[in-house]
Amino acid sequence: MSYKIYLSPPHMSGREMKYIQEAFDSNWIAPAGPNIDAFEEELCRYTGSRHALAVSSGTAAIHLALLALGIQQGDIVLCQSLTFVATVNPVMYVGATPVFIDSEPVTWNMCPNALEDAILYYLNIGRKPKAVIVVHLYGMPAMLDEILYLCRKHEIPLIEDAAEALGSEYRGRKVGTFGDIGILSFNGNKIITTSGGGALLSANEKYIERARFLAKQAREPASHYEHHEVGYNYRMSNVCAGIGRGQLEVIDERVAQRRANFHFYSQHLKVMPGVSFQIEQSEVISNRWLSTMLTNNSPLKHIFAMNAINTLNNKGIESRSVWKPMHLQSIFIGQMYFGGNTSQMLFEQGICLPSGSDLCKHNLKYIADNIVDHSLQ
Ligand SMILES: *Cc1c(COP(=O)(O)O)cnc(C)c1O
Repeated sequence: MSYKIYLSPPHMSGREMKYIQEAFDSNWIAPAGPNIDAFEEELCRYTGSRHALAVSSGTAAIHLALLALGIQQGDIVLCQSLTFVATVNPVMYVGATPVFIDSEPVTWNMCPNALEDAILYYLNIGRKPKAVIVVHLYGMPAMLDEILYLCRKHEIPLIEDAAEALGSEYRGRKVGTFGDIGILSFNGNKIITTSGGGALLSANEKYIERARFLAKQAREPASHYEHHEVGYNYRMSNVCAGIGRGQLEVIDERVAQRRANFHFYSQHLKVMPGVSFQIEQSEVISNRWLSTMLTNNSPLKHIFAMNAINTLNNKGIESRSVWKPMHLQSIFIGQMYFGGNTSQMLFEQGICLPSGSDLCKHNLKYIADNIVDHSLQ
């Protein structure tokens, strides 16, 4: 299927080539070099994080975060169920056991009540959870006050999967800086891209230095090649970091453009009965990476959402269903789950709309008109 309008295509600023050219001119084509150091510094400046490490993907960043926190075989990790599978795959890489937590219907992210139930259940059977992974889905910050309160009270480290949420804010601070470790993704579909990449953020230098060591094949400081542990090749290349630098220069514009898309959709689609959206609570700013809507307007809600996605796709408009919760995936059958059916309902009734930061008003109107027409059929 070739689309006229994509869900979330890369959007170059035109400033990337300058940094790539510098990398070529100085022959820094390796996974080392001045663009990487500068990109890490610029990420710290933008997010307010004290330390950052640029790596080859968001998935690698989550893997390194788990390793830096010392998560091991058999450990319990409490994960948001409604997410992309890359949040959870690294839990399997380290041999830990993912336990899935439902969402609340306001932000669509981890439900603090279900999280508390899970923590108390595992404390009660003498298996203290070793980490919590919360996600800021489609850019919408999770209920961080409540989740941080529970993590601190029970002394469980928090990993923030902010892969979709660069630029989003919670009480005036950028998300990704609230957890013990935050992770970002610069995959091609994210709000900014390095063509492929990710990063770890932390206030704790020890975590970042541990992750940096493991990302560089765990090479011990020695003039020869000395290894005491298994390492990984997870560093970002100096060329990719150059793309990232050119992209980060325009992040505020990109957030504004994506928020304007959402504003347009919410104004034009509210004429439809039973439509709702992720809610931005007070003191919260979502980057609105993807504009998503819930369709609640027919007894066959699931069928409606599926049909709407098909109708749009047939018109050359790429739209997608919301992530299918992890506790409903066959690879995770048999894993524990805490909560009700909110995440399943969001999956069945949700639609992700085209949300690129280069969408023009004309195309936005074309998309919205097609959705309204579909709802009238
Ligand atoms: C994209 C994404 C990731 C993984 O990032 P990659 O850079 O593609 O490895 C992890 N979690 C979420 C929620 C994502 O959307």
